[in-house]
Amino acid sequence: MEFRQSSKLSEVCYEIRGPVIEHANALEEAGHSVLRLNTGNPALFGFEAPDEILQDMIRMLPQAHGYTDSRGILSARRAVAQRYQTLGLEVDVDDVFLGNGVSELVSMAVQALLEDGDEILIPAPDFPLWTAVTTLAGGKAVHYLCDERADWYPDLDDMAAKITDRTKAVVIINPNNPTGAVYPKAVVEGILDLARRHGLMVFADEIYDQILYDDAVHHSAAALAPDLVVLTFCGLSKTYRVAGFRSGWLVVTGPKQHAKNYLEGLTMLASMRLCANAPAQYAIQAALGGRQSIRELTAPGGRLREQRDMAWEKLNEIPGVSCVKPKGALYAFPRLDPKVHRIHDDEKFVLDLLLREKIQVVQGTGFNWPSPDHFRILTLPHAEDLEAAIGRIGRFLSGYRQ
Ligand code: PLP
Repeated sequence: MEFRQSSKLSEVCYEIRGPVIEHANALEEAGHSVLRLNTGNPALFGFEAPDEILQDMIRMLPQAHGYTDSRGILSARRAVAQRYQTLGLEVDVDDVFLGNGVSELVSMAVQALLEDGDEILIPAPDFPLWTAVTTLAGGKAVHYLCDERADWYPDLDDMAAKITDRTKAVVIINPNNPTGAVYPKAVVEGILDLARRHGLMVFADEIYDQILYDDAVHHSAAALAPDLVVLTFCGLSKTYRVAGFRSGWLVVTGPKQHAKNYLEGLTMLASMRLCANAPAQYAIQAALGGRQSIRELTAPGGRLREQRDMAWEKLNEIPGVSCVKPKGALYAFPRLDPKVHRIHDDEKFVLDLLLREKIQVVQGTGFNWPSPDHFRILTLPHAEDLEAAIGRIGRFLSGYRQ
């Protein structure tokens, strides 16, 4: 008797934790130390969770052993609603759903919407969960290109050309993973205008909305389009460095009367998974109401900002490598000039780098980027570790032929 995976998985792809991980694990088991630059997990790089979050969670633990309301506990949903009210949005506690990270909510939001064959516009490169979840839900991920020569902003003409009568929604990831782009107001408005003209739901993945460098300003899609149904996703994993708690939220704004039936479906999916992890729900109010220490980390002299600077500088020093300066988030997405490096298979490139240098990055095609000429590196390690790692990547590249 052989048990085989469902054919529904045959087109689903999620490379951030993909097959290269098995090789990395094997190397570690053989006694090597592997520098894992593949997942945006701040805890692995010595970022500590704000103490008030931990203290609050510990204090509330005795009350957090039962299931909660499927949408989440009231105090946390109220704190989330207030966060968006300060942006001028009309948000009520009933518009907020808490989830086991943004990941779970993305999956629910997409599943609740799609019929087989329906299309969602998703950026390329993307955070690949969006594509994977769309495919798993029987939908078609249609990728609109982001333009590296224009600071990785979405190409609105490309997006417009890809809208069909099956297009149901558009995904905006801002600040962006993997490129680090933070979109100017006009770009967000351009996307919203297309959504308005074509009757699309907007999924705004804004999990990095507080991780901004230099003069970057985050423009919330929901705040710019109160006339559109927008689902905004955010959570504690990155800004509050507690990715392991699995704590996120989804906020519904706009003319909800046009989404009544959809929201009933979403509510049913929320009930089917009973509730989000209860102790982590208690962390939300403490996080949102506490000291926003992320600002010190991203300000000049702050750890995240210095690391971003180091990664960007050192990547650009490698011959045949160029990197747009990330304005937000925790990543850089450098380009490998095909005339210099001639990489035909970027998964092989990433595996060869791992085997030779014991450094694990993720290939660009893992983010649904169409050609094998990019990779993503985290800007989470200490600046000196990044400098050393990028130096090793440069040495590796100088002798690398496929
Ligand atoms: N959205 C984006 C753009 C991300 O980069 C990530 C994690 O890396 C997530 C969502 C998932 O976050 P969570 O830990 O809340 O599930």
